[in-house]
Amino acid sequence: LTEDIDIVYIETPTNPLMVEFDIARISQAAHERGAAVIVDNTFYSPIYQRPLEDGADIVLHSATKYLGGHNDVLAGAIMTNDAAIYDKLFYNLNTTGPVLSPFDSYLLLRGLKTLALRMERSTQNAQEVVAFLKQSPAVKEVLYPGKGGMISFKVVDESKIPHLLNSLKVFTFAESLGGVESLITYPTTQTHADIPVEVRHSYGLTDDLLRLSIGIEDSRDLVDDLRAALENE
Ligand SMILES: *Cc1c(COP(=O)(O)O)cnc(C)c1O
Repeated sequence: LTEDIDIVYIETPTNPLMVEFDIARISQAAHERGAAVIVDNTFYSPIYQRPLEDGADIVLHSATKYLGGHNDVLAGAIMTNDAAIYDKLFYNLNTTGPVLSPFDSYLLLRGLKTLALRMERSTQNAQEVVAFLKQSPAVKEVLYPGKGGMISFKVVDESKIPHLLNSLKVFTFAESLGGVESLITYPTTQTHADIPVEVRHSYGLTDDLLRLSIGIEDSRDLVDDLRAALENE
């Protein structure tokens, strides 16, 4: 963290390795050097993490994910408690016009009303899926920060990943996250395909890793689906 750094931009937990960072400590260190802190809070949502209260200057969300919650709206949200930053952001918004349509606004507000319930259920379901994955002989490692609906795991035999993705019936093979339906993503060919392979591997994003976004279905359906796809040849 040198003097020429103006912004520290963090995502916590990280996608897809689920590493958590201490926002309060990072904010303190950044502010001592005159840098502002931006936190992408998409994965935890305000239900589990409130970065402004921990010292961050700007928080942003892909509202496409948990805030909307139904995989049917593309939106973003920015929060700040700094009046000068707010004025600049509002000026930008007002002059360049990146505003949501009335229908998208309606969908987003409607989704927000059940955010707390959805986060609670996703976490419960995720904890049950994690318990299953941890004892599955087909799974090498499970990455889960303990709350929220996002889980990554590494399989013992990566040659079986195409079979796994084709066999799942409840999980949909798709890139997004944070909706009521459970999704599975293969970062190697989807979300992280444009990161050079040496770079990906250098920080542990290996080709045996899959990411789950756990929705609000019956957890037994989710576990049964994963068991059938992972453990039946
Ligand atoms: C999806 C996502 C984004 C991008 O948001 P869009 O709404 O798809 O533009 C940014 N950060 C995180 C953590 C995301 O999951």
